Amino acid sequence: MHIKNENPAYGAGMEPYAGIPTFMRQPASRNLDGIDVAAVGIPFDGGTTYRNGTRMGPRKIRECSLGIWGYNRVLDVGPLDVLNLVDYGDIAVESGNIETTIERIFQEVQPIVNTGVKVISLGGDHTVSFPLLKAHAEKYGPLAVVHFDSHCDAEEGYYNHGTPFADAYNSGLIDTSAYIKVGIRGPIIQSNEVKIAESQGAQILTIERCFEEGIEAVIEHIHHAVGNKPVYVSLDIDVVDPAFAPGTGTPEVGGFTSFQIMQIVRGLKGLDTVGFDLVEVSPPYDSSGEITSILAANLVFEFLSLLALKKR
Ligand code: MN
Ligand code: MN
Repeated sequence: MHIKNENPAYGAGMEPYAGIPTFMRQPASRNLDGIDVAAVGIPFDGGTTYRNGTRMGPRKIRECSLGIWGYNRVLDVGPLDVLNLVDYGDIAVESGNIETTIERIFQEVQPIVNTGVKVISLGGDHTVSFPLLKAHAEKYGPLAVVHFDSHCDAEEGYYNHGTPFADAYNSGLIDTSAYIKVGIRGPIIQSNEVKIAESQGAQILTIERCFEEGIEAVIEHIHHAVGNKPVYVSLDIDVVDPAFAPGTGTPEVGGFTSFQIMQIVRGLKGLDTVGFDLVEVSPPYDSSGEITSILAANLVFEFLSLLALKKR
């Protein structure tokens, strides 16, 4: 059995749909002694600019994680055989106050990161990545960044889910020699949006280039950009085509399939990944059978598997 959990409150020994739905049935706990990874929910959508609903993301991703069995056939590892994981619960966001929320995310996550426990954050809209990057950069220094998204999220201005990487860049949190955005596409608001991101040091892999060159080449570009530097990985679920991930705030057509994004995430194997977030899952817009949240839960499972390979 690769789902390590002895507590019947979280469904130990029960049918897969029974028990309190913590992430992959792991204990809900803030005791980090002996813990390798903490799954942290950030139920916030106060930074959205179009459709909201990402405040419901963490809860639904947890629920959908109950259907994931424990062994990763492709990466050949059972993450929970190797890692001690807790479900840390949620950050105390304030839905109407973005500055307060950003500060609380930083204040709550920084001590976890400082203990050396790896944090996997479940969003929440993309605003949350700025304080997460800040918490990680204070421990590891300016970070290599792999950013999966259909949008650059590099706008200057007030905090919202379109600004986190400009905020991080302006705060010196990003190692601009190792910064790559993957899957960029869609109509843009200003004609120079991609140029602005490039001027902040980002390498841009547009979706056109990803499909012209193929998934293996995308993985090579990422490894080439990051090398062996400590890297933060941020995955906006809208990098996936809305045919596969409709439950998101600002969908853009013409993206990766579920299988392609799984291949790419598995392709991060070998990187020195110090932090992950998965953001922009909006369950109220997940119109067909929770497919977006099921994909999100599976992508977190792949992240976990990568951390397990690193520890093993
Ligand atoms: Mn985004
Ligand atoms: Mn996006």
